[in-house]
Amino acid sequence: PLQRFAHWVERAPDRVWLRQPVARTWHPITWREADDRARRMASALRAMGCEPGDRVAILAKNCAEWLLSDLAIMLAGLVSVPLYPLQSAASIDYVLRHSACKVIILGKLDDAERLEPGIPAEIRRIAMPYPTLRADHGWGELLALHEPLREAHEQRADDLLSILYTSGTTGQPKGVMQTAGAFAFASSRSVAETGLGPDDQFFSYLPLSHAAERFLVATNSLYCGAGIAFVESLETFAEDLRAVRPTQFFSVPRLWTRFQQGVLERLPQSRLDRLLALPLLGALVAWKIRRGLGLDRARVLVSGAAPIPVALLEWYRRIGLTICEGYGMTENFAYGNFNRPGQVRFGTVGRVMPDNQLRIADDGEILYRSPSLMTGYYLEPDKSAETLRDGWLHTGDKGQIDADGYLRITGRVKDIFKTSKGKYVAPAPIEGEIAKSLWVEQVCLMGSGLDQPLALVELSPAARAQARAQVEADLLATLEQINGTLLPHERVSHLLLVREPWTVDNGCMTPTMKIRRNV
Ligand code: ATP
Ligand code: MG
Repeated sequence: PLQRFAHWVERAPDRVWLRQPVARTWHPITWREADDRARRMASALRAMGCEPGDRVAILAKNCAEWLLSDLAIMLAGLVSVPLYPLQSAASIDYVLRHSACKVIILGKLDDAERLEPGIPAEIRRIAMPYPTLRADHGWGELLALHEPLREAHEQRADDLLSILYTSGTTGQPKGVMQTAGAFAFASSRSVAETGLGPDDQFFSYLPLSHAAERFLVATNSLYCGAGIAFVESLETFAEDLRAVRPTQFFSVPRLWTRFQQGVLERLPQSRLDRLLALPLLGALVAWKIRRGLGLDRARVLVSGAAPIPVALLEWYRRIGLTICEGYGMTENFAYGNFNRPGQVRFGTVGRVMPDNQLRIADDGEILYRSPSLMTGYYLEPDKSAETLRDGWLHTGDKGQIDADGYLRITGRVKDIFKTSKGKYVAPAPIEGEIAKSLWVEQVCLMGSGLDQPLALVELSPAARAQARAQVEADLLATLEQINGTLLPHERVSHLLLVREPWTVDNGCMTPTMKIRRNV
């Protein structure tokens, strides 16, 4: 990655790389300016006593300084530990202590006071130029004080570049060790595969601490030279997206649903259907919706991190947007399977990425072998040996490959619970069935300690507008069908209907596993 960065600094020094909105004004940063600032920050980190291999954490919402910090850490030969800003203080404390970070670089955060207790006192703090937590040094002060680092670290393929902690859906977060070579491998191939180049424009708003955003936006931009514009805040999201009009856009199912809801609030589905059916006007309406979303220039639309309903993909296709679903995880730097634009098959996560071996084990588990794999979990030899066997990554997910090589995710290997009657239930297929209902936004099946499994259902906006009795009757009918087919030995007869959207700690992931584990 550092070599690619140097490439753009040399080839296109005055070209704008990053755009940061501050109080509704876009602040551009060229490749040369990025280089100057990152090198000054690298000198500052060295001056603070960081030695090659030391860990430095980044805790901030996405912004230009996030990427500049990441580069500074690489230039100084250090290891980055990105933290997820919506994590609990307790899990931030866990990660910081587990990785023994020396310095933390803090940026804009929504609820800084909540996170304060999560940062151990012995860690030195640098504050990015936004209102944030108390710090020992300010960003501007350090840039002014230090000269750009001349003798930058010579990055090699087997250098440990980052420790990316997993979402912790199935337990404590695990520190996934990623090398510079894994980043280089994944991004060089991904960029070639999607035909991205320096004229492309990315929009960054999903957390950079998550492998998928770091890969698809941050690292890919170094490999193709694309510009990156950041979102300013949640409130300005729609406006920022319309201003940027990215050519590649990555989101997660939960947010794809929200964008759809935003459109339907202004234009009810029945009217939309009628308009889209009109010969010429239909195309114009579809274009206006794309334009309104800021996605009229988007060539590559990606969804990942959790399964996306086929009905939603079809809805987007009708307005001229084909979403490409992909599948990956922190352990392979999100480099797994992907529906290439033009070769999309809904309901699958596409074919395997180049030079990436995919295999389904006898028990249905998805396995990968490629240079994008982690070298192991930091300080967890047992878990590492369990997950990496003979060079194969055991994903913990189950899947099936069809005749044309498209992969379908069917559940998680360990996602099974026992009811108090002692019956085993695999919830994923049942949840998939219930989720097909128009009344359901999210569903989580729970069973441990209960006589019969219980379905916790978050009602969709459509259901909230409908008579309660009707919704209940429809959902109970769905359950009856499931009881007859998918669940021969058990009955799901209990429903818990929730009107408020539920969110868990773990913002952009499917929260069902987390809820199940905590019940
Ligand atoms: P932990 O490993 O700590 O329990 P996690 O597995 O949720 O947490 P991540 O690495 O962020 O942490 O998420 C990867 C997981 O997300 C995959 O293993 C898979 O279960 C799920 N996933 C990713 N993309 C998809 C997809 N397109 N469809 C279904 N599931 C997906
Ligand atoms: Mg995992």
